Amino acid sequence: MGLCDIQDIKAILGRHGFHFSKSLGQNFLTEQWVPDQIAASCGVDADSCALEVGPGMGCLTVALSERASQVVSVEIDRTLFPVLAETLADCPNTEVVEGDVLKTDLKALCEEKFPGKTVYACANLPYYITSPAIAALLDSGAFAGVTVMVQKEVAGRICAPVGTGDSSAFSIYIQYRAKAEYLFDVPRDCFVPQPKVDSAVIRLTPLPEPAVQVQDEKLFFEIVHAAFNQRRKTLINAMGSVFGKRLSKEQLTELVTGCGLDARVRGERLTLSNYAALTDAVSAALQKASDA
Ligand code: SAM
Repeated sequence: MGLCDIQDIKAILGRHGFHFSKSLGQNFLTEQWVPDQIAASCGVDADSCALEVGPGMGCLTVALSERASQVVSVEIDRTLFPVLAETLADCPNTEVVEGDVLKTDLKALCEEKFPGKTVYACANLPYYITSPAIAALLDSGAFAGVTVMVQKEVAGRICAPVGTGDSSAFSIYIQYRAKAEYLFDVPRDCFVPQPKVDSAVIRLTPLPEPAVQVQDEKLFFEIVHAAFNQRRKTLINAMGSVFGKRLSKEQLTELVTGCGLDARVRGERLTLSNYAALTDAVSAALQKASDA
């Protein structure tokens, strides 16, 4: 039985009366090299464990089970459980738990299933939850690495060096707390049903400390969001929409240029260090304004 063989996939799913759900982002892999390469790249080994999101019919689960000491897969769709009972019958180190990854306490799940072990997260993510799922995996603090397949364009944006114009508020959020690596492309014809876009696999390795130090993390992300919510505006004008009641345009101009930035710069051109310096300057100015 080949879990990536299209004839076998159709036979198994047909036998269980399974129908693909578009709304659950169900596009299953049909090329064995893909789950093999994801499992080989995610960092898991015989001493560590894997937490998988969305096993589908289990091709990545099996590839992970061949390398990891233990694999737990979180699947939202109950109709896949009888399929997985069949396809994972020969993999005793795997377990499937029912759940929505966005509503699961991932840290508690890892502590319960893998006490004291190093855990790697791995997934061919459904497109409709790409950003919140990545955020949930990273924010849980439960993983030594997060290796996920996402839409190719999104992978490019997440890994784009901050300040190059391709970055986004989300890529800053990621690169603030993790090293982001673009691993390899996966063309759309590697899936059934075939999606309209190509995919790519990325690996996020959480940093021991945030990439830059800031006095006020909440303010840091407020500034980043202000800048990218209106990314066609200059940074000063975009910040004016959020901080305009507390800081005048002249003050904002002074703060931006005081960080060595051009007054007409857009937020997409700032590096993480630029954002950190600006955050500390804005923090001090807000403090001064509230003391006055
Ligand atoms: N891993 C399989 C593969 O590569 O062939 C399937 C990947 S498919 C893109 C996404 C999987 O995630 C499906 O099995 C789907 O049912 C599951 N899924 C969708 N939303 C989910 C959620 N919120 N939580 C957990 N699993 C979810």
